[in-house]
Amino acid sequence: MDEKVRIVFLGGVGEVTKNMFVYEYWRDGKIADSIIVECGIGFSETGDEIIMPDVSYLLDKQDTLRATVLTHGHEDHTSGLSTLLSQIRIPVYGTRLTVALAEGKLADHGIQAELHPVKHKQILNFGAFQVRFVHVTHSIPDATNLIIKTPLGVLFHASDFKFDWSPVDGWPTEVGKIALAGESGILCLLSDCVRSERSGYTLSEETIEDHLELQVKKAHGKVIFTTMSSNISRIQQAVNVASAFNRKILFLGRSMRQNVEAAQHLGYLHFPKKSIVHSKSVKKIPSNKLFIIAAGSQAQEDSALSRIADNAHKDISLAPHDMVIFSADPIPGYERQVHKLVNKMTKLGADVVYSDINDELHVSGHGASQDLMLMMGLTRPKYIVPIGGESRQVRQYFLLAEKMGYSDDTLFAPEEKDAIEFTRDGKARIVKEVA
Ligand SMILES: [Zn+2]
Repeated sequence: MDEKVRIVFLGGVGEVTKNMFVYEYWRDGKIADSIIVECGIGFSETGDEIIMPDVSYLLDKQDTLRATVLTHGHEDHTSGLSTLLSQIRIPVYGTRLTVALAEGKLADHGIQAELHPVKHKQILNFGAFQVRFVHVTHSIPDATNLIIKTPLGVLFHASDFKFDWSPVDGWPTEVGKIALAGESGILCLLSDCVRSERSGYTLSEETIEDHLELQVKKAHGKVIFTTMSSNISRIQQAVNVASAFNRKILFLGRSMRQNVEAAQHLGYLHFPKKSIVHSKSVKKIPSNKLFIIAAGSQAQEDSALSRIADNAHKDISLAPHDMVIFSADPIPGYERQVHKLVNKMTKLGADVVYSDINDELHVSGHGASQDLMLMMGLTRPKYIVPIGGESRQVRQYFLLAEKMGYSDDTLFAPEEKDAIEFTRDGKARIVKEVA
């Protein structure tokens, strides 16, 4: 029997976003089973355009597609589902929060999908593939990596992760599970590499709350806090600080309210109901008793924050000495538009705190060099493919791998639409432009 396993990179290589990978099991010259891992959107280089995934490669292979598996709820891993599911019927699997966030976004597009929330211990069988979830820490709760067992060996899909030993939700990465998988033998590791240029370990989320508290202590007017609306743990920290200062909380922006509602409903976000206020009643609350958690940290057009900065929000206006806190770094490409937003708010008299003047109000959800080396050390794969990073980050990742004894012929840097192919004899090679 002629067999091979292929991973086709429809996205998520050579760039940070638009993650989409197709795992294929080939028997006697044709695909027998395949699964899709992630289905995310990308952003254009200037940051003003959203790029949907190109799923044309999959259209004539629908009879082989068994499932789409999501690792976590970030947009660059899930928001392409509306494009995929409007063309292909396929069940979607992910942890509870991941599926709930995806469900909300699909409902916005009027798409009914077959969504399966999965418990971490569940083992899923999709034809030749067996998929197990590993809980990891990232900047969103309920994030996972995947152990994908195939007839030719085990593939470890380490999408976004860091090793945070004191995460906000108290649930650290399942290192034991990763190490056990490593002990049993891993053919190939696909690993997040976006922070490979940074030395050391990425800081714990825990460091944020104290710094946020110090900042809010200085506020005389209202506080507007903004982060990515999927960053549920950061939102939890903001809620904690607002409560510590007896400030009423207003969630602002559609994506923010939608995510907060889903996370709170599933028990991933906790706050006393009585401390929440709505836009309409906000005028009755003194400024120094108000804490707004707003969407729009990337200065997205038409976001709550952009409207406030344009003095065009119907309920909220900025007054001198209101404080605006950015707890997010601009996505590459969005820097200019974020700076423009900061300028507008500064002109309105607000005290704006952002990463260039205070870098202690945000930490990355991605592992730095030592996190990445720890993942390599635990999984000890035969081959490695860095994913979710640009060429320079892939290069730095390879230098880390070389330090750990990996040689050139075990490290692969496929480009979008390429595949990596594994054969029975244990060999691996890149196949150019299959998609
Ligand atoms: Zn992510």
